[in-house]
Amino acid sequence: MKNKAVFLDRDGVICRDVNYCRRTDDFELLPTVPQAIKLLNDHNFLTIVITNQSGIARGYLTHEMLSDIHKKMTDELATFNARIDDILYCPHHPDEECDCRKPGTALFEQAIREHAINVQASFMIGDRQKDIDAGKTAGCRMIFVTTGPDNRGKNPTKADYTAINLLDAVNWILR
Ligand SMILES: [Mg+2]
Ligand SMILES: [Zn+2]
Repeated sequence: MKNKAVFLDRDGVICRDVNYCRRTDDFELLPTVPQAIKLLNDHNFLTIVITNQSGIARGYLTHEMLSDIHKKMTDELATFNARIDDILYCPHHPDEECDCRKPGTALFEQAIREHAINVQASFMIGDRQKDIDAGKTAGCRMIFVTTGPDNRGKNPTKADYTAINLLDAVNWILR
């Protein structure tokens, strides 16, 4: 039997979007995120972060610094007994035209393969149109959250639901 998953964008969904998070001090979980992720854990959804981190290609931070930021994320979530099952990121510059930067789907395909995911039973939650486009192309249902920096009031095309925060999104999945 295959696994079901919720793919999560990071910036503007899990943490505040600070326009290139470069230091652990820049990383701040958004409200309701620990409860929302714990709910997904408790309902046997894999939680997989898929994030564009072109700050690496731009020279703003290294893989090691990003790893420290992600350790802070998982450590903070662990204090709420919430767990991220995998983190996949694209380090490339948009000009490189790689397949892994969203709206590309290479990281989704990698996760689906490595975690034996049933994509039709899975969801993607993001705060930008390119998240929705990537999730839709990968074949999952798509939720838009309005916790990003410039998305308030916008309702992007192809989203199956628009949520006010991650907990609202998760409650819709579990409805
Ligand atoms: Mg985002
Ligand atoms: Zn890439």
